[in-house]
Amino acid sequence: MLTNDELAKWDRENFMHPSTHLAQFARGEAPQRIVTGGEGAHITDRDGNRLLDGFAGLYCVNVGYGRQEIAEAIAAQARDLSYYHAYAGHGSEASITLSKMVMDRAPEGMARVYFGLGGSDANETNIKLVWYYNNILGRPKKKKIISRWRGYHGSGLVTGSLTGLELFHKKFDLPLDQVIHTEAPYYFRRPDASMSEGDFVGYCVEKLEALIEAEGADTIAAFIGEPVLGTGGIVPPPAGYWEAIQAVLEAHDILLIADEVVTGFGRLGTMFGSDHYGLKPDLITSAKGLTSAYAPLSASIVGQKMWDVLERGTDENGVLGHGWTYSAHPIGAAAGVANLKLIDSLGLVENAGTVGAYLNERMQAAVGDHAHVGDVRGEGMLCAVELVADRDARRFFDASEGKGAKVVAAMLKRGVIARAMPQGDILGFAPPLCLTRDEADRIVEVTAESIAEVLG
Ligand code: PMP
Repeated sequence: MLTNDELAKWDRENFMHPSTHLAQFARGEAPQRIVTGGEGAHITDRDGNRLLDGFAGLYCVNVGYGRQEIAEAIAAQARDLSYYHAYAGHGSEASITLSKMVMDRAPEGMARVYFGLGGSDANETNIKLVWYYNNILGRPKKKKIISRWRGYHGSGLVTGSLTGLELFHKKFDLPLDQVIHTEAPYYFRRPDASMSEGDFVGYCVEKLEALIEAEGADTIAAFIGEPVLGTGGIVPPPAGYWEAIQAVLEAHDILLIADEVVTGFGRLGTMFGSDHYGLKPDLITSAKGLTSAYAPLSASIVGQKMWDVLERGTDENGVLGHGWTYSAHPIGAAAGVANLKLIDSLGLVENAGTVGAYLNERMQAAVGDHAHVGDVRGEGMLCAVELVADRDARRFFDASEGKGAKVVAAMLKRGVIARAMPQGDILGFAPPLCLTRDEADRIVEVTAESIAEVLG
């Protein structure tokens, strides 16, 4: 067996890691961790640590680690049929069963599901379907997509453009011209402290209307948004936001894509975030929770209005020219079927609601009054703590101080994984949906101790 040092060396010399400081990593100056196992909400590593994973990997291991039911379904599928494509009407029992299970759980008004591999490709599919749709309708100019600053929708060419975070644009020649950005519904960072939530919703609406006016509604095809902003800071929208935004979109015949890669399959305490906020999307993007990341799989869920036009489009133009080799991969589909069954049998959607609310309440009580905590917010099994230099002035720390990353490092020393969100000093929590109250207490306790250690 290789020693830890040998593996670490191979890692530095061969492996180009995503979202990593390449130079520091190659020089051995950036953290490395070799993960070996997981059980419930905990992972273990080669150094012998057992860590409480307060971020469920990347908000994806929703049923928790080590579920034998899913491992067995994957093994059985690999033995029976490891692969066949889904082109030209091919399927497997697993992929057809999963399509039915997804549609049974999807919000009202959805018609079909298209399977891919991950969140980025599912958004890529959705944008292409929107363009196809408008071409079939004879509206070749109606193509731009509105996304929000701080939205996260992937890191491909179009999806990295949709993502409204500078890190994902800088030096990549993004965003592409077809993508434009509007205000994020980030009440804590509202431009004027005296604004009420209602005022701020009005402000977001005005910004959106001004953008539509400036660009011309006849050039705008769709608006994409996460029900709760995720990677941009874990920010639930202010009350009334989605209702007001949907009214604007409807008035201008702009489609709505709900990016539910994080919120799909239970994270907010409802099966979809669209159910939680009363969204009526034309397309839904989902991935992560669909298989709890036991295997890569995504689902683009197509609403009836779009489906009718897409169907007609192929009658006029022939086969839909869009597919991946691994669309509806049988192993991913088998993982998805076993995963959705577990979510039901363990009552994890409900647990996300109740234990998630408990985590948020306890977090607020433990750190909400700290002089350097500006905001504690969350929804379902999502929670964030935003650190500030000055609470009253809502003044933020200088990014170079890396306060959020320091608190996260202090938490890791105590055995709890949180995520330093990429823009601002924000501690993010998105634990597995099977989290217990005791585990929630531990996350809160370690957060409070670590904030005290780093910020006094
Ligand atoms: N959309 C959202 C809302 C996401 O959070 C993510 C990933 N964090 C993606 C899309 C992209 O998914 P993937 O990394 O699987 O491509």
